Formats: sequence, C-alpha cells, structure tokens
Amino acid sequence: MSKGHGLSPGYRAGDNWITCQRCGFERRASQIAEEWNGLEVCKDTCFETRHPQDFLRVKEERITPARTGYQVDLDASAVDINGDPIGLA
Ligand SMILES: [Zn+2]
Repeated sequence: MSKGHGLSPGYRAGDNWITCQRCGFERRASQIAEEWNGLEVCKDTCFETRHPQDFLRVKEERITPARTGYQVDLDASAVDINGDPIGLA
C-alpha cells in the first residue's frame, strides 16, 4: 500500500499535503497536528499527548540530619591530640 496521496487527489486551497513524521503517510494539513515535541503527526491516529509524569514535581530530598551534636570550632584551624594549635611553634 502506498503512503502517498495518489496522482489526482484534488486541489484544496490552503490544505497542502504533509507527511506525518510518525507513520509516514501523507495527510492534508487540516488533518495534521503538532505535538509538544514539535512533530507534525496525524491528528486522529498518531497524535500523543505529553505524559503526565513529565510534569511531576517532587519535594527536594534532604539526606543530612538536621542536628548531629558535632560542633565545629571555626576559630581553631588545626589542633593536635591535646587540643593545642598546630603550626604556631
Ligand atoms: Zn501518522
């Protein structure tokens, strides 16, 4: 079966032939619709809506605990095992 529209399908002003970008059949421009991804496909058979999961919004996950009990001393740069500063002679 040919995917074309035949030799003499008849002229319709402003209703040109477009090849469906999914099935490859030639359809009139009035029977073609543009999908969300930009493909021009058959309006009645090939058209697919965008999947709802594409619009899913999830809450950002926080993987660190809010409190750890660990305190960082920002004043001391480095200390030895006795708590004395290292590198200050
Ligand atoms: Zn099609």
